[in-house]
Amino acid sequence: MTEVRTRFPPSPTGYLHIGGARTAIFNWLFTQKAGGKLILRIEDTDEERSSEESIQGIIESLKWLGVTWDEGPYFQSQFIDEHVAAAQRLLESGHAYKCFCTKEALEEKREEARKKKADLQYDGTCRNLTPGEIKDKEAAGVPYTIRLKVPRGEGFVSFEDIVYGIIEKRFEDIEDFVIVRSNGRPLYVLSNAVDDIRDRITHVIRGQDGLANTPKQILIYKALGAPIPRFAHMSLTLDPKKAKISKRTHGELVAVHFYREHGFLPWAFVNFLALLGWSTPDSREIFSKEELIEAFSLEALGRANAVFDVKKDDPKFFTDPKAISINTHYLRSISVEELEPYIKEELKKGGIWDPDFEGSKRDWFLRTVDLIRSRCHVTTDFVPVGRPYFSEDYPIDPKALKKNILKHEGLKEWFPILADRMQAIETFSVEETERVAREMAEELEVKAGILINGMRTAITGLVKGPGMFDVLIAIGQHRVVERLRKAVTLFE
Ligand code: GLU
Repeated sequence: MTEVRTRFPPSPTGYLHIGGARTAIFNWLFTQKAGGKLILRIEDTDEERSSEESIQGIIESLKWLGVTWDEGPYFQSQFIDEHVAAAQRLLESGHAYKCFCTKEALEEKREEARKKKADLQYDGTCRNLTPGEIKDKEAAGVPYTIRLKVPRGEGFVSFEDIVYGIIEKRFEDIEDFVIVRSNGRPLYVLSNAVDDIRDRITHVIRGQDGLANTPKQILIYKALGAPIPRFAHMSLTLDPKKAKISKRTHGELVAVHFYREHGFLPWAFVNFLALLGWSTPDSREIFSKEELIEAFSLEALGRANAVFDVKKDDPKFFTDPKAISINTHYLRSISVEELEPYIKEELKKGGIWDPDFEGSKRDWFLRTVDLIRSRCHVTTDFVPVGRPYFSEDYPIDPKALKKNILKHEGLKEWFPILADRMQAIETFSVEETERVAREMAEELEVKAGILINGMRTAITGLVKGPGMFDVLIAIGQHRVVERLRKAVTLFE
């Protein structure tokens, strides 16, 4: 059996976006499962639009996602001579011909055809030039393009797409298309096919927008006598308004690096992207890496376009709710040790990282992360949610202040008493702190909730959070007492 060889060939004209990442992930999953090789090939022949910065950005995003490749990166621009040589071979074997028609002449003919509502295809003027005619034009220095000689007559190009099934295109609907421009530069349709032949690609897995090139490329393969790979064209990724996801329309919101910066865990994001246009019969949502590779198949890719719910205008969500729910799942269920490096990065960015968190305070740090992750959806949440634990500088939410503190005048007197009693506790535990708080509420004949909520806001600045007595233990006796004493100033 021949080894499976796939490729991911991004054009480096910007960042890696959701659609590109999804293509890379499907190629990667398929290749991993087949035990094959994935080739990273940068299609950088558009000199004006390609940039080194984009190449580095794409590679960085792939690495972050954990999408690995086995060969490359290769660069299309280094193989231009090879693409032209292939066209030369096609000329020699009679599968292509030189076309000396000028742009003006072609445009004139097209204009006429348009008027007559006739076929706009190239009419084949140069297809049957005699060797003598060709020689004369060459001698006169007439510039020429190279066109593929598409078979004529009844037949058609036909192939079985793994996703879309049998696809047929009649020869008569394919014009003799240009493969090399008059300036000697190969066209993309040729370069892409020649690269796939050289890289011995067995499966071309790409976006549905590549489908327009496929019949032409199959003709090129045949003319060059190369084996034809299998094709799997994936449905497109659309936004909820059915617009194609693109840099132009959606900006940073569809960039992979945006999700990295906004606190997504790489595997959670891969898991989410894999579900855009692919599913298992039981609609399962959570997969480990091994499970996803095992479960994946190209045959299960859907033909319907996938929808990525860009929450452009909704400040409540900043992205697809499913992406957030999958991320939340991982963030709360992987081991804290696995989570640790991501939190460290965020706390550093937020200016509240303390090297002791990975030194003498590490056990406490991990326990605290474990406690507060029940309130977090993305790793960036650990900065606002973690501030009262990891820093002395935490804001008091004005709404919480009003609701939990200012509404209850009595707290002004009760906070200092509570502080004394918390200080007096010998073993500062969940049970002891709770007993003290409840006893005091009983003595004062106030609802325990008033004391507890007041404490929450005084000690964390927030209106909600994990179980209050767990919070007290995480913050620690000394700081709890200090913050309760300081709380009287909140009434000023
Ligand atoms: N460079 C093309 C793109 O980024 C890839 C097309 C292909 O996979 O053949 O869309």
